[in-house]
Amino acid sequence: MQDKEKYVYVVDKNIYINLTNRCSNRCEFCVRYYDKPIYGDLWIKEEPSAEDIIDILENRYDLSKYGEVVFCGYGEPTYRFDAIETISAYVRSKGSKTRINTNGQGSEILGEDITSRIVKCIDTINISLNATDAFKYDKICHSVYGEKAFDIMLEFARECVKKGGNVVLSVVDVIGEDEIAKAQAIAQSVGAKIRVRQLL
Ligand code: SF4
Repeated sequence: MQDKEKYVYVVDKNIYINLTNRCSNRCEFCVRYYDKPIYGDLWIKEEPSAEDIIDILENRYDLSKYGEVVFCGYGEPTYRFDAIETISAYVRSKGSKTRINTNGQGSEILGEDITSRIVKCIDTINISLNATDAFKYDKICHSVYGEKAFDIMLEFARECVKKGGNVVLSVVDVIGEDEIAKAQAIAQSVGAKIRVRQLL
């Protein structure tokens, strides 16, 4: 499959945008490392520009027929935050909603606090909590920021909530009831919602 076929795809009537393969984590459960990748092989050789994505959306999709436009892809989307802002403005101009699935390390990755900007362009900020403390998080997610990544992620969530963002922390159901209860308490402590999702 050519790169341009991998930039935009549809799952469950939502449109997904694949802007990058880059990621500051190397999560053990990441779909990127499955032998048979879910949704097909979405590795891209070249990252698309915002204009590439808008061109695809404009010519191939009637956004009113879909749910959210989700920045997700095969890496951490905030590496491409400038593009996200531009694409979001286009999506909003069509009356559609935006969501981002992020590891919450975007401000650290970009070396600037992006929380004020992200709450302005993204309707739902979905942050993968993954674990209930720094040690467990590092053991699963292997961030380039080591055990600091957990606090970086929670601080990002807290700041987004403070600035009026609709923030959802997500965990997978396989972590067990005790861990889910702890995750709920963490979400509450930063003012976010919690989503317990099935492991793919
Ligand atoms: S943060 Fe997401 S894209 Fe990055 S390794 Fe983890 S699951 Fe994969």
